Amino acid sequence: MPDPRGFLRAERALPQRRPVDVRISDWHEVYEAFSPEQIRAQAGRCMDCGIPFCHNGCPLGNLIPEWNDLVRGDDWRTAIERLHATNNFPEFTGRLCPAPREAACVLAIDPGLTSGAVAIKQVEVEIIDRAWDEGWVVPRPAANRSDRSVAVIGSGPAGLAAAQQLTRAGHSVTVYERADRLGGLLRYGIPEFKMEKRHLDRRLEQMRAEGTRFVTSCDVGVDLSAGALRSSYDAVLLAGGATVGRDLPAPGRDLAGIHLAMEYLPPSNRVQEGDLSASPISAAGKRVVIIGGGDTGADCLGTAHRQGAAGVHQLEILPEPPGARHGSTPWPTWPLMMRSGSAHEEGGERVFAVNTERFLGDHDGAVRAIVLHDVEFVEGRFVPVEGTERELPCELVLLAMGFTGAQREGLLSELEVSFDQRGNVVRDDAWQTTVPGVFVAGDMGRGQSLIVWAIAEGRAAAAAVDAFLTGSSMLPAPIRPTTMALC
Ligand SMILES: Cc1cc2nc3c(=O)[nH]c(=O)nc-3n(C[C@H](O)[C@H](O)[C@H](O)COP(=O)(O)OP(=O)(O)OC[C@H]3O[C@@H](n4cnc5c(N)ncnc54)[C@H](O)[C@@H]3O)c2cc1C
Ligand code: SF4
Repeated sequence: MPDPRGFLRAERALPQRRPVDVRISDWHEVYEAFSPEQIRAQAGRCMDCGIPFCHNGCPLGNLIPEWNDLVRGDDWRTAIERLHATNNFPEFTGRLCPAPREAACVLAIDPGLTSGAVAIKQVEVEIIDRAWDEGWVVPRPAANRSDRSVAVIGSGPAGLAAAQQLTRAGHSVTVYERADRLGGLLRYGIPEFKMEKRHLDRRLEQMRAEGTRFVTSCDVGVDLSAGALRSSYDAVLLAGGATVGRDLPAPGRDLAGIHLAMEYLPPSNRVQEGDLSASPISAAGKRVVIIGGGDTGADCLGTAHRQGAAGVHQLEILPEPPGARHGSTPWPTWPLMMRSGSAHEEGGERVFAVNTERFLGDHDGAVRAIVLHDVEFVEGRFVPVEGTERELPCELVLLAMGFTGAQREGLLSELEVSFDQRGNVVRDDAWQTTVPGVFVAGDMGRGQSLIVWAIAEGRAAAAAVDAFLTGSSMLPAPIRPTTMALC
């Protein structure tokens, strides 16, 4: 029975981050370990609310008060069963999710009074890490095999979640990935210091042991035609992500030293994988400008510091957000407020309400500065503030301004699927594209989102594919294609 006064006995606490000078000299995750006693005290802050608003913040429908109470009572084994009941990969979300469920926790209504939300994300990661350590995470192959086959295109969190669900439902599942390793953005986008890849690798081992088949270095639509794919499988699930990066077509864009974030981050991750001794795009000794103030920009920031950048500016066109939850985003919605991750603590200067006008080059055709100006938001658009134009010297510019949708050439053109106005693949209420038997999940259908949404989409789309193949499905479907975040 949860203790409704637990939050009065223990303040919200999170593990310490390793000292900045230590952690930027390696690539390991930034957090120190938490003791089991500390995490039990944190779980014990949960009140098991009559209406658990935390659930509204999580698309997976995680049974948060249940596993909080199990951890409080030291029953970790049941806790991982309840956690896995709704989430295939809690080691990914526990490390990487921005945790909208914490923003929706009842204890977050007045953090000044309660010391803040239950540390839900930390409880989650401690449960799954302990389960791996104890050997409780084992392959769960299907009890009965069907004679149906499914091809999943893309091995990001959406494709992996769908593949695991469909394999466990008894179908023969093959995941195709055009990269040489599996994991999508988990592998080559997200840096090692946010999630060490060993967490991904051991989950893939479990999936292999359950019977999921993986084919890497296969760009479907190029190495394997859409026609061959459709004739070889009973159903196809597209989970290829929203991989087209937003560019900045300002004068000077073609100078050397200006790169999209997803040109910069993958080779750095390859160094950690042991493929390269050094990244061909390195910030070492350079003044770096990151254009884009979001999470991808923060990943570039942390990477640049670890590579030995001489200095980093991170630019954002929006004004600086308020220090605390803004009134326009009341509890339990996702709050508009200033967020500073571990990468911001490591250095660099954040500059808000600025726009880039053009890039300046040196005699060798390499970028030497950007020209920027302050902006104001007037009548629905950003306008330059007169007299604020200035140069910011730099030798490396990283464009981290988001993604414009799925890559159309190749597979999607060949399949002739339809797109919506935002560049995402259109799907109906059963996750099916305009092409019969071809389904879509994750960023490819939703647009650039979060890992937790990709897993929820993968699970729900798997249920729809299972129903398409067999007439009905017992697989859980936590969301619909049109479900939106609480905001
Ligand atoms: C740098 C960066 C950092 C991020 N950090 C976070 C974070 O900390 N927390 C968070 O919640 N979210 C984060 N996100 C967002 C999150 O990573 C994505 O929302 C999520 O990975 C989407 O999953 P997905 O499975 O839909 O697609 P992806 O992860 O993009 O995977 C798609 C895969 O499909 C493959 N593919 C595409 N087309 C083909 C084809 N024709 N044939 C074969 N394979 C194909 C691609 O190679 C890719 O591996 C981040 C995004 C970026 C870019
Ligand atoms: S809203 Fe917070 S306190 Fe209430 S059940 Fe959820 S985690 Fe526990």
